[in-house]
Amino acid sequence: MSDQPEFDLADGAAEVVIVGGGLAGLFCALKLAPRPVTVITAAPLGEGASTAWAQGGIAAAVAEGDSAESHAADTIAVGAGLVDEAVAYRLAREAGARIHDLLDYGVPFDRDLEGRLAVSREAAHSARRIVHVRGDMAGQAIITALIKAVRETPSIRVLEGYLAEALLTDGDAVIGLQLRKTGADITRPLRVAARAVVLATGGIGHLYAVTTNPTEACGQGLAIAARAGAVIADPEFVQFHPTAIMVGRDPAPLATEALRGEGCTLINGAGERFMPARHPLAELAPRDIVARGVFAEIAAGRGAFLDARTALGARFAEEFPTVYQSCVSAGIDPAQQPIPVAPAAHYHMGGVAVDMQGRTSLRGLWAAGEVSCTGAHGANRLASNSLLEAVVYAARIAEDIGGREFAAPPRRAEPLPALRSAPLSAAQEAELRNTMSAKVGVIRDNDGLAAAVRRFSAMEIAATSTAQLNMAITALLVAAAAWTRRESRGAHCRSDYPNENPTLADRTMTTLADARATAASLGEATPRGPRTALA
Ligand SMILES: Cc1cc2nc3c(=O)[nH]c(=O)nc-3n(C[C@H](O)[C@H](O)[C@H](O)COP(=O)(O)OP(=O)(O)OC[C@H]3O[C@@H](n4cnc5c(N)ncnc54)[C@H](O)[C@@H]3O)c2cc1C
Repeated sequence: MSDQPEFDLADGAAEVVIVGGGLAGLFCALKLAPRPVTVITAAPLGEGASTAWAQGGIAAAVAEGDSAESHAADTIAVGAGLVDEAVAYRLAREAGARIHDLLDYGVPFDRDLEGRLAVSREAAHSARRIVHVRGDMAGQAIITALIKAVRETPSIRVLEGYLAEALLTDGDAVIGLQLRKTGADITRPLRVAARAVVLATGGIGHLYAVTTNPTEACGQGLAIAARAGAVIADPEFVQFHPTAIMVGRDPAPLATEALRGEGCTLINGAGERFMPARHPLAELAPRDIVARGVFAEIAAGRGAFLDARTALGARFAEEFPTVYQSCVSAGIDPAQQPIPVAPAAHYHMGGVAVDMQGRTSLRGLWAAGEVSCTGAHGANRLASNSLLEAVVYAARIAEDIGGREFAAPPRRAEPLPALRSAPLSAAQEAELRNTMSAKVGVIRDNDGLAAAVRRFSAMEIAATSTAQLNMAITALLVAAAAWTRRESRGAHCRSDYPNENPTLADRTMTTLADARATAASLGEATPRGPRTALA
């Protein structure tokens, strides 16, 4: 491709580019108004974003008798010693203001008879503090309201159907993006000059064979930041949701935790509850403990089921319409039958390391939402803290970028590998996802992780498309950090190191170079830099 940007935003109306059309991306764009911004999103707005699928709601200490301090304390307790406490307190304190922003954008949060925000309870929260919409419709209601607000805001331009496949860099500064029209294998990539790039590309769940995440959540954003040299934090910590509904769908539909909050129980095939023996909070124990309980029942051949017959019965359809539909479409009536469940990759605590303003280690690059790692979740996320983190950091990034004057970016960027845009073949994708689930999943060990590191490193070296390269790189980062952390902590469970090791109570700060070095130490050759100049 030519040296000149083909689609140069630097001289146009927009100089701030936001990648991602979920909650973090859209909220940041709205908060930046009237400053011109361009939002780039792989799927049409409303599709391909985890936000739309959120069922529980947003954690915020807005109810009488609750406090931001108590919310922060719960967040810190669940994070298994790795939560940055200052981050947790600031997150909890800013929750109320961001909920009011969302109300202003038109999100119809449920209210009680006195008109106060209605709040429900979720696992490991010491109070009822989940702000929700019509039972389990929070995500859909939030994204619908924000899309409407974005469409009505003239300063926001939305480019739908473009995949960001690389960042353009000049030293440690990000100066633009390489994009590709989705579904167009043979088109040349487009280069977009930008003075500020905000990554809001969501999580990595689709790197696993069983996941609740949309296909677009396959770690592309994390990989492109890592390839540009960004510091990546805590990548080994992946949260597995204990109750994905196992009806042969990919992604697997979710049975929200709020169901357990309402008294639904977990039983095995013999009809016995198995969580009371594992934790005093039983079904409301932290997610990692419940996920391991479900995993153990399935591994032992007893199966695992969510039983709503007594707690909800005939009220199920009205109170949890999304889950009800998922069950009914698979021939299960949850008012009368237990729902088959299994743990599924659900949320990535790790991500691109950011500071309190959402700045990454690279100049010109910010990150918000699930692709980022703020330190709020530590080794395990407290339920419904992720939507909160997305809005809090999107707002802070907007404030940080706010009135800044940016210098014009250089017009020449460092070379990138020349690769096709073709998606992974079905066989390649299945191999990567199965390796992640089998060797980097709910329970991990040295041999499995070492094999995964070697395999993902080989995939990176052999990649013939950017999609394959990016997925292999994110998988490598997760597996290498998991191999390196020789203890069990939060969501990271190693059968060969079953206990927490107090000397390892530090967050992981790593880079792609570190992950490649780990692979080399395990016997895999490292790539020798970009293959050629820009395609
Ligand atoms: C089923 C489910 C239920 C959940 N329930 C809750 C809940 O109740 N409460 C809670 O707090 N959290 C919940 N979560 C987690 C929460 O929804 C996510 O963490 C949050 O929505 C992430 O928002 P985001 O804006 O970072 O990413 P997303 O909403 O996933 O948006 C990412 C965007 O980036 C785009 N994109 C990705 N890669 C690229 C690329 N390379 N180029 C261009 N565009 C790209 C996608 O198309 C999408 O528009 C749930 C998650 C799931 C999957």
